[in-house]
Amino acid sequence: MLNYISFEHKTEKLVMPHEIKEYPIGSLIFSILDTDFKPYITLAENTLKRLNEIDSTEETAKKKRLETPENAPEQVAASLFFDINSRLKKENELLYRLFSSQSMKFLNESYYSDLRMVFSDGDTLTGIKREISGKRANYESKARALVMYFEGDRLYTDVDAELLEVVNSYVLLMRKVFYELNQFQSDIVNLIEEAIDVDENTETPLKERCANLHTGYTRCFSNISLASGGGAIGHISWDMCALAYLEFEHMRINAVGVRKCGYCGRYFLPYSTHSKYCERIDPEKKKSCKDFAGALAYDTKVADNMAKSQFKKWRNSMHMRCERSLKSGAEKKYTDWRKRGNKLLKQVESGEISLDEFMERAKPVDL
Ligand SMILES: [Zn+2]
Repeated sequence: MLNYISFEHKTEKLVMPHEIKEYPIGSLIFSILDTDFKPYITLAENTLKRLNEIDSTEETAKKKRLETPENAPEQVAASLFFDINSRLKKENELLYRLFSSQSMKFLNESYYSDLRMVFSDGDTLTGIKREISGKRANYESKARALVMYFEGDRLYTDVDAELLEVVNSYVLLMRKVFYELNQFQSDIVNLIEEAIDVDENTETPLKERCANLHTGYTRCFSNISLASGGGAIGHISWDMCALAYLEFEHMRINAVGVRKCGYCGRYFLPYSTHSKYCERIDPEKKKSCKDFAGALAYDTKVADNMAKSQFKKWRNSMHMRCERSLKSGAEKKYTDWRKRGNKLLKQVESGEISLDEFMERAKPVDL
């Protein structure tokens, strides 16, 4: 279980009962930017389809439950939770910790949002009150039972239409969470670009767009509650976008700058004013952008040296052949070849073309 997340200058902390995990500031935002959330939305959508197929009448549900326990509503919802968890665990440790530790929060939110729906439907006040208090107690016990089930304590045995409702709103909320995370990716890039735009005098369309984004995301602060423990204060929320926006605001207020990696184009926290490349590791090649960029620069340098020395040899022999040639036009052919070769040399130097390509395209011609 997570107690809270806190942002302190260039560090963010996940405070859990028995351990504190520290990450560099910006990790939540970068984690969100690095993750593809579409498969998670698909998982939730497939689960909704499965739930729709469940016959919620009590008798059928009980009978089916005995025949095919894996199709019982709470098991369908739990398998979504487990699928998301195991996928996140492989893809991103920070998001996995945030998500897996807040199963109760998600469920709380799902039945509270249902209560709000009951309220806005309109009924006599007493009727609503009675329904809310009754429903709330029921939902709360159902939600708790589900959490126990999710956490591996398989005690849940009851099945009815109300359970199906709780499970359904839980899955709908799951879909909403990942849908919003997916949307948040482009929003946060805009916000970052706006924050690092130092020209305060121009009122660019980006800034106008971001003003709306700021208002939009400030509203999600209501999804965050304060938590304390271990002598510090932090934030807790089922809404990862809200936490990430809070992190962004912390970085903006404290002027913690981010930079775009010159190799992969993703944002990172620079270690010094000279850092141009991030340290994200390619899982297959086990190398970071910094390593790749370094190797690339080295290869370019080597290719450049080899191309230059080869071109010098070619140029000397071509020059000699040109001097000796009696054919008219030999001089022009030589000059054209030399000009072309010099251009190609520049392209090797900048890494635009390979040494092989240079050798092929710059080789001597007949005079
Ligand atoms: Zn990179």
